[in-house]
Amino acid sequence: MNTDKEIARYIIVKGLVQGIGFRPFIYKIASELAVVGWVENRSDSVWIFAQATSKILDSFVSSIQDDAPPLCKIESLEIREAVAEAYATFSIRESRDSSTEVTRISPDIAVCDACLEDMQKQPHRINYPFVNCTLCGPRFSIIKDVPYDREKTTMHTFAMCDQCKKEYTDITDRRFHAQPVACNNCGPLYTMQAGTITVSNFSEIVETTSRLIIEGKSVAVKGIGGYHLACNALDQNAVDALRKRKRRDHKPFAVMFADVDVAKEYVHLIQEEIDQLLSPERPIVLCKLKKEIPEAINTGLDTLGVFLPYMPFHYALFEKTGLQALVFTSGNFSDDPIVIDNGHAQDSLSAIADAVVSHNRDIYNRVDDSVVTVMAGTSRILRRSRGYVPTPIQLTHNCEGIFAAGAELKNCFALGVGTTAQVSQHIGDLKTVDTYSFYTETIKRFSKLFRTTPSHVVCDLHPDYLSTQYSRELSLPIIEVQHHHAHIASCMAEHGLDEPVIGISLDGTGYGEDGAVWGGEFLIADLQSFKRFSHLAYVGMPGGDRAALEPWRMALSYLYACYGNAALDQLVDLFKVVPKDHLEMALLSLEKDINAPKTSSMGRFFDAVAALLGLCHYHRFEAEGAMRLEIIAGQTVDESYAFECGAEIKTEKVIAGIIQDLNKKVPTEIIAAKFHNTIVRIILAVSEAIRSKEHIDRVVLSGGTFQNRYIFTRTLKTLRESGFSVYTHSRVPCNDGGIALGQLAIAAKRRMVGCV
Ligand code: ZN
Ligand code: ZN
Ligand code: FE
Repeated sequence: MNTDKEIARYIIVKGLVQGIGFRPFIYKIASELAVVGWVENRSDSVWIFAQATSKILDSFVSSIQDDAPPLCKIESLEIREAVAEAYATFSIRESRDSSTEVTRISPDIAVCDACLEDMQKQPHRINYPFVNCTLCGPRFSIIKDVPYDREKTTMHTFAMCDQCKKEYTDITDRRFHAQPVACNNCGPLYTMQAGTITVSNFSEIVETTSRLIIEGKSVAVKGIGGYHLACNALDQNAVDALRKRKRRDHKPFAVMFADVDVAKEYVHLIQEEIDQLLSPERPIVLCKLKKEIPEAINTGLDTLGVFLPYMPFHYALFEKTGLQALVFTSGNFSDDPIVIDNGHAQDSLSAIADAVVSHNRDIYNRVDDSVVTVMAGTSRILRRSRGYVPTPIQLTHNCEGIFAAGAELKNCFALGVGTTAQVSQHIGDLKTVDTYSFYTETIKRFSKLFRTTPSHVVCDLHPDYLSTQYSRELSLPIIEVQHHHAHIASCMAEHGLDEPVIGISLDGTGYGEDGAVWGGEFLIADLQSFKRFSHLAYVGMPGGDRAALEPWRMALSYLYACYGNAALDQLVDLFKVVPKDHLEMALLSLEKDINAPKTSSMGRFFDAVAALLGLCHYHRFEAEGAMRLEIIAGQTVDESYAFECGAEIKTEKVIAGIIQDLNKKVPTEIIAAKFHNTIVRIILAVSEAIRSKEHIDRVVLSGGTFQNRYIFTRTLKTLRESGFSVYTHSRVPCNDGGIALGQLAIAAKRRMVGCV
């Protein structure tokens, strides 16, 4: 065979390969290898026509696979025969424009090092804070429609200057087809409003902001996906003042460190955490605290949400202030979504901050900072937003046209596009009018962006969730999915599982098929349906929803379940902080079974024990009791409490054991550890019971309880040592932020088998 003979091939590449320098990269390697032909963006892939000798084509293909730009995620590469043509060069063809075109939209990406350097040396970009290139900058946050094109972003109001245009059209330039390309002569600018003073020179803005922050003030700063509130993280008074003004209860603040070396002084970091901190997604990474920080930042928890600068303005601020750490918390009031609008920021955030720094590049899609934690060596997303959305998640079944409404708290929804799930950014708790309109508006935008009109809707079983009510109003075929089944399915979907699994779904609240509040659930599940094998024994929630906010109520309830009317005689100390009439009312509601709904919630079980140990009687933020219990748990304790497993998991002996230990003055660190160990042993015992009965050895772990590091790591280890295959979350949250993905996977399966 003549190896010098030219042959032609189509190379079809799928994945995240558009808008991030893929075509210029193809052009570059084609030119280097003297391959002729063309490259073109198509609706769901990039097509390459390549003509050269077979040897050269081989190295061309290897180079595509091995040397693609860092942000490209090639999912498949297909090679097809083609007929050789008379091309003399290699070219980039114009995108085909069609109304059904769906291009993969890149998430927002942290500013790259090359762009930061350009701020020092490119004459038209000296100190230019909106510098970006094909490899970095805003994407999803500014896009209004596809195909991804400047005209369809919020950059459309800025006409490129000649110099930017030249870069934009030069195939060899790093800014070739970088839609948000801009410079000092043509791009967006910052402005600052401090009281009655307006500042519009960038250096002056940085200087004034820095001065205010050093003086202990706080400043609202517009970012990529919304406004932040910033202050000096090491200034106790500044942090206190910000917390007070923000009315943020006691939810921990995230801290941005100047660089990774400074972060290492304050938190323990393993390599995977460092990789996450420095990744182009730049999430907040939940790390173990090493050095003391002002208590007002994280209310004495042992973890800290840490991230690194990802916009030029952040770098400028650290340089000018010389500070090591800045609080960078979302610019909003309590439960409202993060502010994105300049006018709104001026009206509302100026009540919290001493100055407001805005810019005139509109944020179209609101994206909060994402949150990641590393457990058992793997990074796990706890809040999926900036940097990750809208990267699709591949499902095993066709889910086109299915809208999954998500849960109520930490809501995300999902839209089925072909066989992929487009999971929305973090929407938040559907409790305020503003959050709800963010929800409904984003649903419409996803439908437009991904060219999918919902034909089916899937939602939670809970009749009162706003997401359920929204779903019912759509007048589409509707599928209702039990909350804990959705949790398990979301983790199954991450792993492409469809066969029956042992589903362990532990969390705070989910509406059960019997109307009770579920949350300590051991299921046998596949994507279509589930059987409830076992669950935590029911106890009452005296005071209804208030029981989730006031752990002392659950302590009382568990004592009541154990000792009946004599509950109050146990540990009189425990209830000293609770008003006597509240106590009596709660006891009465348990006795008479009035306003004391039944629950099997694992979250409430943790609450009860946290209150029994005197760690938390009233929640100041979600899951505070469980977190405080986890913090004190001794790491070297192996003992646990007795329990009984059956269709119900009986916990009287756990409570009695804890009371006994408390009376014996056993240190609370040991009691907390024994309690955690008990939960791990319950998980093992039920898993073994299911395995021997059903011959299933795949265990799927989901639900917010698995954010508890002690429970998660020990459960994983114990189950693996006992021969189970264990599946856990990494790409979507184990908390309710993952529910929509699970709903979507279940609905796709049910539709496929004809159940809807
Ligand atoms: Zn760049
Ligand atoms: Zn320009
Ligand atoms: Fe849940």
